[in-house]
Amino acid sequence: MPVSPAYRPDPRFFDLGPDYSDAVKAADFPQTILRFRNDRAAAEVGLETLTDAEWIAAFGRFDPLPGQPGPVAMRYHGHQFRQYNSDLGDGRGFLAAQMRETPQAAALRERGDRPRLMDLGTKGSGRTPWSRDGDGRLTLKGGVREVLAAAMLEAQGVPTSRALSLIETGEALERGDEPSPTRSAVLVRLSHSHVRFGTFQRAAYLNRPDQIETLIEHVRSLYHPDVAPGDVPGLMRAITAASARLTARWIAAGFVHGVLNTDNLNVTGESFDYGPWRFLPYYDPAFTAAYFDHGGLYAFARQPEAVFWNLTQLASCLAVVSEPKLLADALNGFGPAYIRELRAAFLMRLGVHSLGEAADQRLVDATLALLREGGEAMRWEPLFFDWFGGFASSARALSGPRAKLYQGEAFDAFRFALMEHEPDRIERLEHPMFAAREPEEMLIDEVETIWSAIAADDDWSPLNAKLARLEATRTAWRFDT
Ligand code: AMP
Ligand code: MG
Repeated sequence: MPVSPAYRPDPRFFDLGPDYSDAVKAADFPQTILRFRNDRAAAEVGLETLTDAEWIAAFGRFDPLPGQPGPVAMRYHGHQFRQYNSDLGDGRGFLAAQMRETPQAAALRERGDRPRLMDLGTKGSGRTPWSRDGDGRLTLKGGVREVLAAAMLEAQGVPTSRALSLIETGEALERGDEPSPTRSAVLVRLSHSHVRFGTFQRAAYLNRPDQIETLIEHVRSLYHPDVAPGDVPGLMRAITAASARLTARWIAAGFVHGVLNTDNLNVTGESFDYGPWRFLPYYDPAFTAAYFDHGGLYAFARQPEAVFWNLTQLASCLAVVSEPKLLADALNGFGPAYIRELRAAFLMRLGVHSLGEAADQRLVDATLALLREGGEAMRWEPLFFDWFGGFASSARALSGPRAKLYQGEAFDAFRFALMEHEPDRIERLEHPMFAAREPEEMLIDEVETIWSAIAADDDWSPLNAKLARLEATRTAWRFDT
């Protein structure tokens, strides 16, 4: 497999051995039709040099990449909608490979001297010992939805897994929540760890403090190396901080993950596993993504509470080998960290510099108040688009298609709070994206329209056009994650 010289295999989770995963084989699919390859993400781990045929061999048939031991289904448990389930684990996916990102990719981040350990994880690659009654498959629509969610979140500066590959696999699937039979696919995602809170929960459930210790050192050394060996509360603090940051960025993006179970949150605070996600059209705290979330447990504004609840479950696992009081202190850092991160996330999305805590908080409060007062007419994404860069965008916003929304008391308060802040990298406004009348949103009707073209006419051009526009917005915003 002609990987680039920058490809550096480092299969560390595999080294943990059979207590943590099971060797599995990919399904033998009747077809492998390449539908999407993310060469920008692939270049970050030295895989962009694969030809399409090699790509399909690697990500449709799962011929092992150099230096990789072969796929394993990861073991984990988790709370699903607050119910403990000891029957989970990778039931339709596996960990296919681990490798270091390239020095060039690492240099784009703050700690650029540390190339991160990255996973290739699959969805829809076949049955495993953890499949229960499931078929181990992913619908093509589910794959397309994950591609779209990851691209939108990345553009909006949310720490997220990326969709690396989507290959249609030629099977007919039966699903209760899609018109069936429906088409099948296998997705490969590039992510910064698939070690979940539920990975720890399994070790605690099995009463294996030794496994908890092993996982702690695995996670500390590979993902939180600033934490000293043996400092378990320090690790809890690091995971709490990363989770608070992620949650704040979801909120600023208007994103509802939909299924915030403990098996869907990982130890690096990188968002992953996009199923029934939605983006808010307008301010609506009760907006729920999953049709099966009857109580609204994971509604938009309840996501901070959901993440905190999940963190308390992780802390209770760590308490098996550490001091509960110190872990509780670490957990209690979540609230303040979240508030801090929410300020930073709103400043980032509005393209302005910090002016100190009080002024920054005024801006968050005024933005939320304007969104709330504005009702359905004041769509979430356009507000951030119109006012990006603060006063530098005044003329554009006030002569644009939403000019008439920008008046009244809530708007005056917002404008006052915003204008206090200096634009951050004002030259970004020169990007042609800001000449458009409408920003890129990702509302359900558009997602369904993109899918319909594929379902009805096998027309992939709306998807590809959307991805190209999202890439343009990503380079226009230039958010740091
Ligand atoms: P999710 O809600 O996608 O995070 O999945 C929850 C659990 O159900 C995980 O253990 C999955 O591996 C498993 N699962 C979901 N769909 C399937 C399927 N079609 N076949 C087998 N396992 C599945
Ligand atoms: Mg999951």
